[in-house]
Amino acid sequence: MLSSRINYVDFHCHCDLLPGFASETFQLNEDVAAVAVTTTPLAWSKNVEVSKRTVGIYPALGMHPQLVGSRYDDHFSFSQFVNGTPIIGEIGLDGSQAYKQTLDMQEAVFSHILELCSEEKIERLMSIHSLKSEARLIKHFQKYVSSARYTPVFHWFTGSATQASKLLDMGAKFSINHKMVKTKGGQDLLLYIPKESVLIETDMPFTSKNLSPEHHRSLLKETVRKLSTTWDMPEEECSALVLRNSRETLIGVLS
Ligand SMILES: [Zn+2]
Repeated sequence: MLSSRINYVDFHCHCDLLPGFASETFQLNEDVAAVAVTTTPLAWSKNVEVSKRTVGIYPALGMHPQLVGSRYDDHFSFSQFVNGTPIIGEIGLDGSQAYKQTLDMQEAVFSHILELCSEEKIERLMSIHSLKSEARLIKHFQKYVSSARYTPVFHWFTGSATQASKLLDMGAKFSINHKMVKTKGGQDLLLYIPKESVLIETDMPFTSKNLSPEHHRSLLKETVRKLSTTWDMPEEECSALVLRNSRETLIGVLS
C-alpha cells in the first residue's frame, strides 16, 4: 500500500544512479515515492537491499535496451530474479540512430523477458523504453496481451496518436516528465490520451543537474503544474488525480 504521506510517485527514476544510493542515509523527499528502475539485472540485489531500508522506494528489475549491445550477457541473470518480482523496468527497445544496429538483439532480449514474465501469473508493472521502436513493441505486446497480467507504463513516449491508441487498448499507461510537458509532442499526447492513463516520472539523473531530494520533488510538482495548465484544471485537483492514478496503478503490485 502506498503510504498516506505520499503526494508524488515518480514512475521512472534511476535511484541507483543517484549520489549516495548505497549509503545508509539515502532518502527521498518525505512525500515522494519512486519506482526505482535499473539498467541491468546485476543491479537488482543492491536495489532490493536499499529499498528495504528506504521508505518509498519500489525496486524494479531491468535490462536497458541501450545496454544490450555492450552487456548482452547480463540479461541471462534476469531469470534468476524475476520470479515473484512485481515491478520490471527499464526494459524495451531503442531504434534511435545510435542503437538501431542492435535492434535484433534487443528484440530477442525483450521477448525473452516478456516470455519469462508470462510464465508466472502474478500482476506486474513494467516501465517501458520505446524510442523509435513503437511499432515493434506493439507487436510484442500483442503476442502476450491475452495471457499477461501486467500494466505497461510507457516512459517518455514519443510515438504517434494511433500507436498510443493501440497501447491504451492493451491497458497501457504513460509516465510524463518535466521535459516532455514542454514539447509540442508531449502536449499533443496529453490532450489525446485519457487523464486516467497519466502518471508522472523524472528519469533522474538523466534529466537534471541538481540531484537533491528537494529538487526531485520540485520536478514532479513542476510536471503536475504543467499538466494542470494543459488540462485547464486547478493544480490541486490535478495533483489529486495523478496521485489517484498512481495508487490504482500500484494497487496490484504493492503488498
Ligand atoms: Zn530511464
